[in-house]
Amino acid sequence: MERTWMFLLAGLVGCCLFAPGTALMAQETKTVMTGSHYLRGSLEKVKGVVMTDKGPVEVAFSGTVGFQIRRTPKAGFAVSLDRLSLIAKGVPTAKGNSGLIGLSLASPGYAVKYDRKTGQFSAAFRSVLHYELIDKVKGFRQTGRAKGEMDNFAPYTEKMAGTLRGRLPANLMPAEQGTLRFDGEATMELRSPALGAIRNLKVKFPGSILEWLKSPAELLKIQPVFVGAGAADPDATGRAYETLKNRAAEVFGKCGTVRCLKLVFNEPVYVDNDSYRVLDDSAEAINFKSEVNVDDAIEVFFAERMSTSLTCSWGGGATYSSGTASAKIVTSDQQLSVPCPCPASCATYCPLGPCTCGALNNYHLAHELGHVVNLAHPGDSGLAPSTATSVMEPSGFCNDNPGTQSAKNCRNSANPLLYWGKALCFGSPDIMD
Ligand SMILES: [Zn+2]
Repeated sequence: MERTWMFLLAGLVGCCLFAPGTALMAQETKTVMTGSHYLRGSLEKVKGVVMTDKGPVEVAFSGTVGFQIRRTPKAGFAVSLDRLSLIAKGVPTAKGNSGLIGLSLASPGYAVKYDRKTGQFSAAFRSVLHYELIDKVKGFRQTGRAKGEMDNFAPYTEKMAGTLRGRLPANLMPAEQGTLRFDGEATMELRSPALGAIRNLKVKFPGSILEWLKSPAELLKIQPVFVGAGAADPDATGRAYETLKNRAAEVFGKCGTVRCLKLVFNEPVYVDNDSYRVLDDSAEAINFKSEVNVDDAIEVFFAERMSTSLTCSWGGGATYSSGTASAKIVTSDQQLSVPCPCPASCATYCPLGPCTCGALNNYHLAHELGHVVNLAHPGDSGLAPSTATSVMEPSGFCNDNPGTQSAKNCRNSANPLLYWGKALCFGSPDIMD
């Protein structure tokens, strides 16, 4: 009942904002509209069909759809598809359950063909598909060897060719606020397989509500995971969390004037298993990170410490499945208590200068979250390019990553779990590209 009323209301708003097109257009010519306008909508449990190598499966997808509306000198407005992110729980395939499925656009702007008279539109796009089974079968592409630290386990991903069709209101005019109704249907076809267990998919979202925004914020949920019996456990891990969290929020906050990116931190959850206090090797780190799955958040697992060899080669912590909805970080409280003197065997993995020790790696989580949003180390391939001397510079365990943010890092950030919301952003990047 409430939903019907919402749609009715949205329909009325749509009517009054857009239907009397000529009157509004006349008014429009008097007002100089600057910059871009954005439409953003949340897709909540919309119906989809995934065609796997075993046959079709019905799936509920959640995510974000968004358009940019830009004024052009002659034609009036240009509409582009700038967000289409989808996530869904796993589906059975011939090679096993797919695990969490995540999709996002391969780049942020695809031209939309829009008929002003009817409101019909279509857009061709490319999307990046990832699901956890790809990692289980194919493993990871280790990047970053050139500079020592091996903290970035980049996944194999697949490309899909897609089409989004549907109907927007006729005579669409950019607005400062308000909502409109939108009917859409996206189809995607696998183009460059890594595993190929998902062949194509179709998602329908009739009657979605889009909201007008001048500067949409993008939010990313973070789920801290500690070892211990619960919040009251005095020996629980996560002692480094508050500092690392605050420094990460600071670095992402600096994107503000380029792109409003906000981290949203969930309350910690606990794994009551003391064997994860000290991670002996990467196999144990992988077991630890398999203990908790929160579909709409990036999990950050805190051990107490790791073996010296793991600590040195990772720089104390690492990101798995970078750039995808399945991304997870494994790290330790020792980031803020690097033993003195710094382990000598770590020196070769510390490219930023002589080793130091103590409460050192304040920007470590900010750096790993950079990998989570698909950023490579400067000069490395495999993920999106990042800026030299920024937070994405690898530092090893005995030096901290720089606390500086760049405009390029902010623009290149991508993850299907980024969702739109309203937030104020004030910061600006230290490096303007
Ligand atoms: Zn790194």
